[in-house]
Amino acid sequence: ARELPAYARRVLGALEGAGYEAWVVGGWVRDALLGRPGHDVDVTTSAPWQETARVLREAGMAVHETGTDHGTVTAVADGRPVETTTYRVEGTYSDRRHPDEVRFVTDVREDLARRDFTVNAMAFHPERGLLDPFGGEKDLAACVIRAVGEPRRRFEEDALRVLRAVRFACRLDAAIEPATQAALEAGASGLAAIAQERVGQELDGILATGRVAWALRHELPVLAAAVPELAPMAGFDQKSPYHAHDVLEHTARVCAGVEEFAGGCPSAALRWAALLHDVAKPVCWSEDVSGRGHFFGHPGEGARVTRRVMGRLAIPGEVTRGAAALVLLHDFEIRASAPSMRRMLSELEAAAPGQARPLAFALLDLKRADAVAKAPACMGYAVELDAMSAVLRRELAAGGVWRARDLAVGGADVIAERGIEPGPGVGMVLAQLLEAVKAGEVPNEREALLAWLRW
Ligand code: ATP
Ligand code: MG
Repeated sequence: ARELPAYARRVLGALEGAGYEAWVVGGWVRDALLGRPGHDVDVTTSAPWQETARVLREAGMAVHETGTDHGTVTAVADGRPVETTTYRVEGTYSDRRHPDEVRFVTDVREDLARRDFTVNAMAFHPERGLLDPFGGEKDLAACVIRAVGEPRRRFEEDALRVLRAVRFACRLDAAIEPATQAALEAGASGLAAIAQERVGQELDGILATGRVAWALRHELPVLAAAVPELAPMAGFDQKSPYHAHDVLEHTARVCAGVEEFAGGCPSAALRWAALLHDVAKPVCWSEDVSGRGHFFGHPGEGARVTRRVMGRLAIPGEVTRGAAALVLLHDFEIRASAPSMRRMLSELEAAAPGQARPLAFALLDLKRADAVAKAPACMGYAVELDAMSAVLRRELAAGGVWRARDLAVGGADVIAERGIEPGPGVGMVLAQLLEAVKAGEVPNEREALLAWLRW
């Protein structure tokens, strides 16, 4: 069942033909054992990287020197990249993220021992079979994430492993072994000291598994060590008849809901928005005299916190703008009518220029997940939202008008019909006209719009 692709066999064959030893390691081995083919192939070899480069070039492959400090080169075999790294171990980690030194070694077992989790610390060779000194195959079968070696030390060496443990637990639908779990909690504070960009990538990876709801419920201390803004959600009672759960459980349900409503592949912006949609709530929530909770913050507060968190984590700007727009508008009142859809599209366009179409469907998914996750009183609205994507689709197919440039008239028509000078006044007239069209007061037809301008 574990058919190693021919291009990877070429890399192993070339290195071993030159007298070195080489194995496939890491993600490919893990995923192949799970019957999930298609993972990139990483190779580990006894050859020093200069030798690896020479041997693989002589075998006709292009070789890029992608990480020679760590002994890594990337060979392109039959069009597929294969990262090939010399057996190595790492020295001490005084910054808790980057080893102070890399030491090359001669025994593949030493290389496997420096890897993070048992399921990631197996090597495979088509003739020699599986090399599994830490019981990774058994842990994989039992769905367990277990640190290689002494867990506390491993998380102290590199705190990013704390998030990696959660990511692999989400991805493999696995449990975290108790000693590893205890060490996770002890090591999570180390995340504050490592590059926020790396933290952002791992969190994005956790979201991409589609199982962040599990992480919120079971690994909040780890997530909150990465994003402190998440911590106040736990146990936060909204004192509202519309909410049956605290903000944390509500958020977990919304995260799970968007996966379902977006057919298992929500955009990154939607996943981030689901995670952060209520992030401002615990800080902007107060009770009125009757003891009922209300949001007292600025309506843009959630979007502001979203931009701050995602900016700090160096998430790409387009994803951040999309997520912030969804958070901003997740409480926006929408009805199943064309004018309401057009209003939603123009609000999204204003918040995240150029992304209104994809965000509109994402917003419906988010609102639906939010309504379903609230109290049963909100189910009626959830059902209505369910019908809205059809209205949205119809509206978009009909060439919906939600930006001034979608109007069937332009600035020149305003100048001609109103007899005004070019300048900001023209834009104001177009904005008024756009409002009238979005409200359904006038159809987006040239003659009708010209008549409106003359009137
Ligand atoms: P993915 O599909 O997420 O890329 P992967 O197993 O390929 O999964 P990578 O992050 O690409 O994971 O790392 C490749 C391998 O390198 C891992 O399987 C693991 O053996 C090792 N590794 C990566 N990062 C670390 C780390 N921070 N500490 C220890 N070992 C690591
Ligand atoms: Mg990888």
